[in-house]
Amino acid sequence: MRMIDRKKRSHRRLTRNRHGPRVRSSHSRTAPPYDQPVANPDPAYAGGVQPLIDRYGRVATDLRVSLTDRCNLRCTYCMPPEGLDWLPRDDQLTDDEVVRLIGVAVTRLGVREVRFTGGEPLVRRGLVDIVRRTRALDAGVELSITTNGIGLARTAGALAGAGLDRVNVSLDTVRPDTFLEITRRDRFADVVEGLAAADAAGLGPVKVNAVLLRGVNDDQAPELLAWCLDRGYQLRFIEQMPLDAQHGWSREEMVTADEIFAALDRAYDLTPATEPRGSAPAELFLVDGGPATVGVIASVTRPFCGDCDRVRLTADGQVRNCLFARHESDLRHAMRAGATDADLADRWLTAMRGKAAGHGIDDPTFLQPDRPMSAIGG
Ligand code: SAM
Ligand code: SF4
Repeated sequence: MRMIDRKKRSHRRLTRNRHGPRVRSSHSRTAPPYDQPVANPDPAYAGGVQPLIDRYGRVATDLRVSLTDRCNLRCTYCMPPEGLDWLPRDDQLTDDEVVRLIGVAVTRLGVREVRFTGGEPLVRRGLVDIVRRTRALDAGVELSITTNGIGLARTAGALAGAGLDRVNVSLDTVRPDTFLEITRRDRFADVVEGLAAADAAGLGPVKVNAVLLRGVNDDQAPELLAWCLDRGYQLRFIEQMPLDAQHGWSREEMVTADEIFAALDRAYDLTPATEPRGSAPAELFLVDGGPATVGVIASVTRPFCGDCDRVRLTADGQVRNCLFARHESDLRHAMRAGATDADLADRWLTAMRGKAAGHGIDDPTFLQPDRPMSAIGG
């Protein structure tokens, strides 16, 4: 495999946010102080839209919206068997509030992609309506969902009809017994059915996200890829991150991107895909010459923070400028106290100014955020 070429390329890379300016990797740059304006870098943002630009020149155009922190699975790397202390109902944004905040992001702040996530977004009763209303805000915004796939067989058609473009389904194994071991639920068949329904409903290209766990499914990467290739699904492996509720993650235990490449490379001929990666987190490889690809998201061992174009909204209305942020900006209380859309947009812009250069997992002072992945929105 052409690991060395790929590594050289990523180290030298000058990057371009998909909808924003050309920037150098933020790690090498010094940020201006919070209170100095950053010049609007892109004339495409004319017309009253203020981009969500941070102190390093990165522009957030991709909004992850968590619709709930609840879930019907209990993946071992995500939450404990008994679940978590779920958000009180009153703290959760209503459907109207979610749509209003997405509207602020799309119409005032230049957001061009909205991904619904959680927890498990399919357990949110108003999901189809939220998708429909988000689509009505702007026909050009890309709408997708990240889901465990349970219940997707029932809702895929309605979601497509409401204007959803794509789905990402999380599936870490194609062995029912390993599925039960990882998720603590015997629901493998439901996920397989959900994937097929999403594909049939036109929610493609269907992407599959997989996390490998040492001693559990780390020997299953090639068979997972074979299964996805057979069905035309695009598989991406994600390195396990320190975002589990139990704080059980360890650097020594996690399966690294290099190990994943090596395992796949023994079974397939992998060559780096030529299309520019931009702000996409996955490093893409052509499988046996293509056109099928496999991706690896090396969030821990090869962070891509310098190219980040994401911002997150939690189910209780907090803006998070990074998965690993230790500070949030509370839009829910502001909104319920009567803030105008312009006020909310200003708060959001300010929240982005505090975005750190990188997640700092390798820094000895790194602290895992208080919220686990399931309560942030992965
Ligand atoms: N429940 C939905 C699902 O599983 O797709 C959406 C939320 S889940 C938090 C989003 C993604 O985060 C899933 O692909 C899941 O595998 C991944 N994930 C959860 N915890 C993780 C961790 N500690 N490190 C890396 N990925 C994680
Ligand atoms: Fe639920 Fe997704 Fe977490 Fe698994 S990874 S427990 S499906 S939120």
